Amino acid sequence: MRITGIRIFHVLPRWTFVAIDTDAGITGYGEPVVEGQSRVVAAAVDHLAEYLIGQDPRRLEHHWQVMYRGGFYRGGAITVSAISGLEHALWDIKGKALGAPVHELLGGRVRDRVRMYGHGRGDTDEDFAKAALSAKQRGLTAMKMGIDGPARDLESLDYVDRQVRRLAAVRSAVGPEFDIAIDMHGRTAPATAKRIIAGFEPLHPMWVEEPCLPENVDAMREIAASTSIPIAAGERRFTKWEFRELIDRRAVSVVQPDLCHAGGILECRKIAAMAEAQYITVAPHNPLGPISLAACLQLDACIPNFAIQEHPSMDDGADLGVGLLTEPFEIVDGYVEIPKEPGLGIQPDEDRFVARAYAGDWRSPVFVHEDGSHGDW
Ligand SMILES: [Mg+2]
Repeated sequence: MRITGIRIFHVLPRWTFVAIDTDAGITGYGEPVVEGQSRVVAAAVDHLAEYLIGQDPRRLEHHWQVMYRGGFYRGGAITVSAISGLEHALWDIKGKALGAPVHELLGGRVRDRVRMYGHGRGDTDEDFAKAALSAKQRGLTAMKMGIDGPARDLESLDYVDRQVRRLAAVRSAVGPEFDIAIDMHGRTAPATAKRIIAGFEPLHPMWVEEPCLPENVDAMREIAASTSIPIAAGERRFTKWEFRELIDRRAVSVVQPDLCHAGGILECRKIAAMAEAQYITVAPHNPLGPISLAACLQLDACIPNFAIQEHPSMDDGADLGVGLLTEPFEIVDGYVEIPKEPGLGIQPDEDRFVARAYAGDWRSPVFVHEDGSHGDW
């Protein structure tokens, strides 16, 4: 079997999909994207396609090695995300060729269904409480919400109190059984993060995510050591080498590899095994599209240290994105059934990609502080 062509689709709201065609008539799908930099990743996919076309798609570990190491310069969001999406598609082809779901080829199912969570958004505490209640009423058992941005390095008592009051409002709306994750989005300096997290302590959030920016593991460790709340991070780290430090130095209790950024399904399987050895749980990051979710479900199905899966299709009133698939994911009581079909277990409808095509120019929001300086989103 040989790869004959590689095609890219930019699809609303901000997704990028890749299709790899073969001379066996099998097409595999993947999701190579960095949010806000879709066209840059598409250029990286085109660059890697020059190598992949003509190759046997089934040698996916070998192709990963060549794509990652062959350019001499290693890592980085753009290259590794391009590799990730192509890797999904290579798995999809391999599974379809063998008539097996990807998780069957990675050791088989260790669970029957996957616990899901979405996001709460709004302007007021009441908005967030309503979103959480809606999630609970729809059968979900968890929700994630953010803190206000931008945040200054040293924040006021008022800012700190507002974040704590919001969590308190949501907690009192949904009670103790429902899990609430807080994403601090790397908006705060460690000093301010520690003060906010101290306020969160009695409200028992499921985790606090990216309490500071992700490059400095010592800063993350310092925050983790200051609290009993599990610290989560990983969406902005790429490959096992970047996760090694986070995991081996026990800077987090929860790792959140993004299957579209960290290197793909097999790379995240390796990261999960590294985490397992440190008793760290895995909650794959995924604010992206349905092919990304399909890749996540294959991993979630077969790793023992899985916690919960993020996806915006769980959000209140969400555009499910499943309109792009011939057979939508089945969501029952806050869980998604593990797809049983070969490969990624989905049938993307390319006509629907075309109907929702856009220029790939979605950009991440930019925050500006009162003094005109840049604030992290
Ligand atoms: Mg996050």
